[in-house]
Amino acid sequence: MNNCIFCKIANHEIPGKIIYEDDLCLAFLDLSQATDGHTLIIPKEHYDHFLDVDQDVLAHLIQVTQTVAKKLETKLNAQGFNIITNMNEVAGQTVKHFHIHIIPRYQSHEGFNPEFTDRSKDIDLDKIYNRIMN
Ligand code: AMP
Ligand code: ZN
Repeated sequence: MNNCIFCKIANHEIPGKIIYEDDLCLAFLDLSQATDGHTLIIPKEHYDHFLDVDQDVLAHLIQVTQTVAKKLETKLNAQGFNIITNMNEVAGQTVKHFHIHIIPRYQSHEGFNPEFTDRSKDIDLDKIYNRIMN
């Protein structure tokens, strides 16, 4: 896709610290390094976001995500991971080429602290369930 920075990395037009590559995808270090080893997995083909990705490609990408996470566990002694994808601006997506973040976690509290707010006292769970199911 024209002017897409991740397409350019996939085509080796601009450099990236690539740690895994095959015919369909690659993994490279995120420049921001929220934690040591913060990695992005991208398909070589351009898809804007999660909902657009071909399902066979997506299945391959999640398998590669596991393979790369195992490597980071071994090489960097990661104690755990957050695996996330942001879809659309409302969810914080800044690069419109689908990518999966692998964020290794260590004992120290470093640059990534996801928190789920417990709203259970304020919401009607049945109402939400019914909206989804009906
Ligand atoms: P998101 O907010 O989910 O769209 O994440 C985009 C990520 O891409 C951010 O964490 C950026 O640090 C990262 N990023 C942007 N440009 C590059 C680049 N040229 N090489 C590596 N990571 C990049
Ligand atoms: Zn792209």
